[in-house]
Amino acid sequence: MPEDLFSMTPSTHRRSGVAIIRASLLKFVGLLTGVFLLAGYLILYLASDLDRREEGESAFHVRKAVRTIEKSIGATVKDYAFWGDAYKHLHTTIDTEWAYVRQNVGATLYADYGFGGLFVVDAADRTVYSVIGGQLQAVAASDWLKRSLPQILVKARAGGDAQAPTTLFVDVGGRPALVGAAAITPGTDPTVTVDDGPASVLIFVDILEDSRLQALGKDYGVEGLRIATAAETDGPHVLALGENGAAGRLQWEPEKPGQRLLSMGLPLIGLAALLVYLMAWAILRRTTASAQALDASYESLQRSQAALAISEARFRDVVEASSDWVWEIDRDGRFTYLSERFEAVTGLVRHDWLGAPMDRLLCTELGSVTQWLGIPNRRPDVSVDCRYLDTNGRERVTRLSARAMGDLAFRGTATDVTEEIESRRRIEFLSQHDALTGLPNRTRLRAFLDAKLAQRPTVDRPLVMLSLDLDRFKPVNDLLGHAAGDTVLSEISSRLANRVRHGDLVARIGGDEFVLILTDLKRQDEVEALCKQLIEAIEQPVQVGEQEVFVSASIGIALAPTDAAEATELLRYADIALYAAKSCGRNTWRFYASDMNSKIIERRRLENDLRFAIKHGELCLHFQPRFRIADGRMVGAEALVRWQHPERGLIPPDTFIPIAEETGLILALSNWVMETAFQYATTWPEHLFVSVNLSPSEFKRGNLVERVQQALQHAGIEARRVEIEITENVMLDDASLALDIMQTLKTLGIRIAMDDFGTGYSSLSYLRTFPFDGLKIDRSFLSKLGTGEEDQSVIKAIVGLGHALSLTVTAEGIETQEHMALLKSVMCDEGQGYFLSRPLDTEGFNALVRVTQDAGVLEKS
Ligand code: C2E
Ligand code: CA
Ligand code: CA
Repeated sequence: MPEDLFSMTPSTHRRSGVAIIRASLLKFVGLLTGVFLLAGYLILYLASDLDRREEGESAFHVRKAVRTIEKSIGATVKDYAFWGDAYKHLHTTIDTEWAYVRQNVGATLYADYGFGGLFVVDAADRTVYSVIGGQLQAVAASDWLKRSLPQILVKARAGGDAQAPTTLFVDVGGRPALVGAAAITPGTDPTVTVDDGPASVLIFVDILEDSRLQALGKDYGVEGLRIATAAETDGPHVLALGENGAAGRLQWEPEKPGQRLLSMGLPLIGLAALLVYLMAWAILRRTTASAQALDASYESLQRSQAALAISEARFRDVVEASSDWVWEIDRDGRFTYLSERFEAVTGLVRHDWLGAPMDRLLCTELGSVTQWLGIPNRRPDVSVDCRYLDTNGRERVTRLSARAMGDLAFRGTATDVTEEIESRRRIEFLSQHDALTGLPNRTRLRAFLDAKLAQRPTVDRPLVMLSLDLDRFKPVNDLLGHAAGDTVLSEISSRLANRVRHGDLVARIGGDEFVLILTDLKRQDEVEALCKQLIEAIEQPVQVGEQEVFVSASIGIALAPTDAAEATELLRYADIALYAAKSCGRNTWRFYASDMNSKIIERRRLENDLRFAIKHGELCLHFQPRFRIADGRMVGAEALVRWQHPERGLIPPDTFIPIAEETGLILALSNWVMETAFQYATTWPEHLFVSVNLSPSEFKRGNLVERVQQALQHAGIEARRVEIEITENVMLDDASLALDIMQTLKTLGIRIAMDDFGTGYSSLSYLRTFPFDGLKIDRSFLSKLGTGEEDQSVIKAIVGLGHALSLTVTAEGIETQEHMALLKSVMCDEGQGYFLSRPLDTEGFNALVRVTQDAGVLEKS
C-alpha cells in the first residue's frame, strides 16, 4: 500500500459549476448587450447622418431647379425683348396685330411656356399690352401683380444695354410667381430706328402652379415639391422665394434613406439580439443542467473521497491492529509492500524482505506460493497455509489469502495460525489418544482397524486382535488412590507398547481394558507366546511410592479373516474370548471359539427370561439356617434365591445374579427377595433373624436405604431381626459412598455382615473402618482345610480378629464333623453348611423350625 494513498484528503472548498457557468454567461450576455447597443447606436447615427445629407442634397436640387427656371424665364424674355421686330411693334408702336394675332408675342407663350401673364410697359410705365392666360386683355401689370413695378422696370431698363434681363419672385394672389423682365431693344436689326427715350419693358410672369412644381421636382429628383403652408415657415426642406419669403415658400419631402436603413437594420439587430439571447438562454439551461450534474457528481466524488479517507483510516487501523500482516508482490513475485505487523509477527525485518522473492520466505505443503497463486481459476476466497522460519529459526505457519491486482501482481493478508495448527494437532492427537497413557484410544483403534481390514488379511497372514483386561485393578484404584491407579495404568501401558512391533497398535479403550492389533504373527503358537510374554510383563510388580502393586491380565484373541472380517464383529469376538478367559480363572488367554458365541447368545436369552421371571413369580427362596456353634441352637437363616425356570428347571443364583447385576434387573430382583424373605421371617419364632444378600451394584444405583426401609415396613418385621450380607466389593467401588450408606442402614436398626471374608483384597482395613456387626469366613477356608496346623491357625486368627473388633464370626461351608470340632475349638460363634443343613425350601425350613423348637437344639452340634 503506497503511503500517499493514506495522505490523500478531499478538497473542502469549491465554487459550484452552476455558479461559475451563470457568472460567465452573465458576462457574455452583458458583452453581447453592449455590442448590440453599440450597433444600434451606430445605425441610428448612420441613419440620421444619411437623412441629414439627403436633406441637404434635396435642398440643393430645389435651389438649382429654382435657379434654372429663373434662368429659363430670363433667357426667354431676353430672346423676345432683344429683337428688332419686337422693338418696332411693341415699343415704337403697339402693334397688337403683329403681337397677338400673328402670335409673335401672344398666346403661344402661355401654351408653350406656361407664362400666365405677358405685359409690355412703355416708357411712361403704362401697361400697353397684356395677355393674361393666353387672352389679350387690357389689364395693367401692376394691378394684376398687385404691386408697383418701378423696381423691376428700373432693373430691366438698366440691363437693357447689356441685354441682361431681370427676374424676381413675387406673390400673385397668394401664389408665388416668377417674373422675368427685360427692356425691349432693337437688337442687331439695323432697320430699326432707335429713339432716345426710356425703353419699354417686356414682362413675362410664370405662376408656379402645383402641377408645374411637381413636374419641376420630378426633373430634379425631389419628391412632393409644393407650396408650403403658412405654418411651414422654416426648416431644412423649406425654401423661401423672394426677399425673406415675400413670394412664398417651397416645401418638399426629402427622401429618408436613414429611416429606411433604420426600418430594416433595427429589426435585424433586434432579431439578432433575440436569437443570441435565446441561444444564450438555451446554452445556460443546458450547461446549468450539466453543471448541476457535474456538481452532483463532484459532491458525490467528495463524499466518496471522504468515505475513501475514512475507509483508508479504518484499513490502516485494522491492518496495524490485527495480528495479520498485509503483503503485496509484483509480477516477479517479489515483495513490494509489507505492513508494519510483519515485523511484530515474524520477527523479520521489513527492509530486508522488500524486493525479495516471496517464495524465499514462504512455501506451501504442495509447492511454492507463486505456483499456488498461478493456479488457473483459483478461488480468491480460498487461503493456503504456508510455512516459514521466524527470526529464531522456529517453523511457523501462516495462512495466506491473496487477491490479484491484475498484471500478475497480488496482494493479500497473512494470518499466523501456528498456535491454531498446533492446538488442532494436539486436539486431533487427544481425540485419537488416551490422555493418561498416550496410547491410541477407541477412535484411533477403529480407524486403524478399518484401514488394516481394508488391506484384506488372509488366513496365512491374519490380523490378530487381542482384547486384554486387567485383573484385580479396581482395588488398586480404590485402596491406593487414583494417582496410584494412574501410575499403574501408565506403567502397564508402556510395558504393552514395548512388547509389540512397529506398525502394530496398542489402544486403551476403557479403564483397564486394552486392545492390541498385531499383523506379523502367523501361527497360533506365536500368538500364544506373545500372550504369555504380555501377561508376564504385566505381572511384574509396579512400584507405587513405597508399595509394590501386583496386577494380572486376561486376554481374548480373535483373528481376521478366520473369525470375522469386520471390525465390530472382530472386537466383539475378542471380547467374548476375553470373557471366556476370565471365567477360566483369569490370568490366562483364550482364542475365540464359535461355541463361546453361543454361550453369549444363551446368556442374552437368559437375560430376557429373567426379566420375565421377576415379573411372573418364577423366583423362589430357599433358606439355609445358621446355628450357634457352642450349643447348636438355630439363630436365624440366610435367604438364597432360586429361579424355577419352566424349561431349564431350578437355576442356581451364581448363573443369573451376574446377569441381573449387569442388566440392572438386580434392583427388582433384590426388592422381591427382601420383601419375600422378611415376610416369611415374620412367621418364624421371635428369636430367629433373617439374612439377605445384597449386590455391590445396589450400593451404586438408586436409593438402597429407602428400598430396605420400604421392605421392612411392608413386611412389618422388626429391624433387629434383619441382617444384610455384603461382600467387600461394595467398599472397593466407592468406599466413602458405601460407608455413608452403611451408616444410614445401621440407623434403621438392622445388622450388617461381611460376606465371603478372606477372598477379597484387603479385608482387614475395611473391618476396622466400616460399621460391621459380623463377618462370614468364606467357605474356601474350610474346604481347603487339611489337617495342617497352618490352615487352622488362619481360621483361628480370623476368629480372634473378629472378636477383637467385637464382631460375630460365622463360618460358612461346614461340611463335616471335623469342621465343627475345629470351629468349636477356635471359639467361632456361628456356622452354616451342608453338614448342619442344606438350604431348604419354605416347607422344609418350617419343618426344621418345628423340630428344633421341639428339640431345643440340633443334634449335630
Ligand atoms: P453365599 O452368600 O456365600 O451363599 C452361600 C452359598 O453357599 C449358597 O449357594 C449355599 O447353597 C452354599 N453352601 C451352603 N453351605 C455349603 C456347604 O457346606 N458347602 C458348599 N460347597 N456350599 C454351601 P447358593 O445358594 O448357590 O448361592 C450362591 C451365591 O449366590 C451366594 O453365596 C450369594 O452370594 C448369591 N446369592 C444367593 N441368593 C442371593 C440373593 O438373594 N441376592 C444376592 N444378591 N445374591 C444371592
Ligand atoms: Ca451370603
Ligand atoms: Ca458367602
